[in-house]
Amino acid sequence: MAIRKIARMGHPVLRQKARELTVTEILSPEMTSLLQDMIDTMNDYGGIGLAAPQIYEPIAVAIVDYQEDHPRYAEQTQKQDKAAENSSLPFTIVFNPKVTVLDATEQSYWEGCLSVPELRGWVTRPKKIQIDYLDIKARPKTVIAEGFLATVFQHELDHLDGVLYIDRVKNEVGQTKLAFEEEYSRYWAKGSEEDENDEVDVDQLSEEDDLE
Ligand SMILES: [Zn+2]
Repeated sequence: MAIRKIARMGHPVLRQKARELTVTEILSPEMTSLLQDMIDTMNDYGGIGLAAPQIYEPIAVAIVDYQEDHPRYAEQTQKQDKAAENSSLPFTIVFNPKVTVLDATEQSYWEGCLSVPELRGWVTRPKKIQIDYLDIKARPKTVIAEGFLATVFQHELDHLDGVLYIDRVKNEVGQTKLAFEEEYSRYWAKGSEEDENDEVDVDQLSEEDDLE
């Protein structure tokens, strides 16, 4: 077991395109060891997902550990995704993933990232996607995700393209929705003091979400 250090925004490894893996690499003992480190690291930091570049490995593998009532995302992983397909997807490891948008309807969540600590940003993404990937035995697999789970996957897979969620926060003078976690909890999270303010798209989905 090894908890790795997480690369933070500004480190070039987070801006590289991750290299695709061969079947031999996926099945190697080194990969098993790397995955264990990724899992240990994600759990230690309390993330809901982790991509290899975040631990300085620019290769195309990511893990998603979506669970209902996730400690860091309790609200987002609670109710609104219950209706969604695969809402309680078990722990998933994806190699060489490819995303296809199935429903481009926009949804927005507050996202966070272990590589961009202490911040949350309001990000809009397509609501339903398909991911084709290789599993840990290098077998082709497909998963369909919607709702918050779709956002989690898109966030993680963005890391493999050198993209950070902060690139997707819509910037408008005087309107950019980017907040420190403390202020996010105080002013934007559901149940916050300012909850009655409807500035967020309550009808879209939930109000607040974050990753990792
Ligand atoms: Zn991230």
